[in-house]
Amino acid sequence: MIHKYFLNGYYIVLDVNSGAIHVVDELIYNMLDLVEPPVLPKCPQSVLNAFKGRYNLDEIYEAYDEIYGLYDIGQLYSEDDYEQFAGMMVNSPIKAMCLHIAHDCNLRCEYCFASTGDFGEGRRLMTYETGKKAIDFLIEHSQGRRNLEMDFFGGEPLMNFGVVKQLVEYARSLEEKHHKKFRFTITTNGMLLTDDKIDFINKEMSNVVLSIDGRKEVTDRVRSRVDGSGCYDVIMPKFQKLVEKRGPKDYYVRGTFTKYNLDFTKDVLHLYDAGFDQISVEPVVSDPALPYSITENDLPVIFDEYETLAQTILACRKAGRYFNFFHFMLDLDQGPCAIKRLRGCGCGNEYVAITPDGDIYPCHQFVGQEEWKMGNLEDGSFDKERKADFATANVYTKPECKECWAKFYCSGGCNANNQNYEGDIRHAHKLSCDLEKKRLECAIMIKAAEAQG
Ligand code: SF4
Ligand code: SF4
Ligand code: SF4
Repeated sequence: MIHKYFLNGYYIVLDVNSGAIHVVDELIYNMLDLVEPPVLPKCPQSVLNAFKGRYNLDEIYEAYDEIYGLYDIGQLYSEDDYEQFAGMMVNSPIKAMCLHIAHDCNLRCEYCFASTGDFGEGRRLMTYETGKKAIDFLIEHSQGRRNLEMDFFGGEPLMNFGVVKQLVEYARSLEEKHHKKFRFTITTNGMLLTDDKIDFINKEMSNVVLSIDGRKEVTDRVRSRVDGSGCYDVIMPKFQKLVEKRGPKDYYVRGTFTKYNLDFTKDVLHLYDAGFDQISVEPVVSDPALPYSITENDLPVIFDEYETLAQTILACRKAGRYFNFFHFMLDLDQGPCAIKRLRGCGCGNEYVAITPDGDIYPCHQFVGQEEWKMGNLEDGSFDKERKADFATANVYTKPECKECWAKFYCSGGCNANNQNYEGDIRHAHKLSCDLEKKRLECAIMIKAAEAQG
């Protein structure tokens, strides 16, 4: 399978199975419409006939030879070597946990998928005892896996920061005994950050996710406080201080764009100009009937905007201004883990979310949907059949994904979005797919442009 497209002056051909990317000329690009595998060494008469008159024979033969050469070395119409791994993807250890340390929040974001923090279950905080049980559960189910990930999540986790600190200490106290290494992340809206909290986070958290949408007017419009006022002026200096003191450790500022700011390149640049170089601004996924929701009608504008952003990033890099935009980051060498490539986030199998009540869900996006509950830490229940079912959700068991050129980058999309908007974890959410494919085209173009110098 190949995917070809023209973007920003580049004729780009992706060989899906090998992952090879080719920047070709217009003749080869058009010739590929007439060539099918198996590619024969000799240029077929039909190809000659199609181009003679417009190109001389030498040019046509040369273009064809290039196509054949790439085919011959396995970089065009290559075979799928990955499907063999699809059946091996069962019974993984659990290696990551989203710990809902607070089902409460001090913001009232318009687009909040978590019912402004409580996931529709009532506002509450996780106790230290429940958090300890969650850590014990993760260790028990991690089998021989040494490195474990734990994301302190909410609502707003800083509303229960004392328990966060206690749990970090508890987890660390178990590392040596169980031969584990915890890697902590915290996701915060920043409102309650203080110097002490910043220092603790920068010392203990391997990664920090800082929620802010970009420009003041954009952030304040959708991320409001309980009294309706905006949060930008409070959080921006705190985030800047945290990042300044953080040194080389990982973090990213994480924004959401909605129908209100389809010109989100300005928000990305605003965040960069404010001092952040690790930036993620992602489309809201929500009920299309809501006023801020992105719908199919918005796609042409968003596609143009992604192209603008890609061109802007290239121009910035040329000028020595470097920042990462997470949705344009690509792993082009296709490694090291085939299974991750096929299954993506691992929700419900390698990754679970735990609520303040000790309920276990496949991931944070399923929390509050009783039918997706996988068990509870208090009564020791855990639905291994459901875990096994999530383990088999991969690009070969999702019909649209199996035929999709983007499958090895996208890894089958978001199971929660699939379930929430298409009614089935294995049925791809079309709008998300369209956006993902456009982002990938832009990301590949950036790599191609940089490789060309
Ligand atoms: S900060 Fe997060 S949890 Fe709180 S209302 Fe906003 S999106 Fe929801
Ligand atoms: S873009 Fe959609 S169809 Fe393609 S792999 Fe991703 S989820 Fe599947
Ligand atoms: S299912 Fe979606 S929301 Fe849940 S962990 Fe995976 S990608 Fe994230």
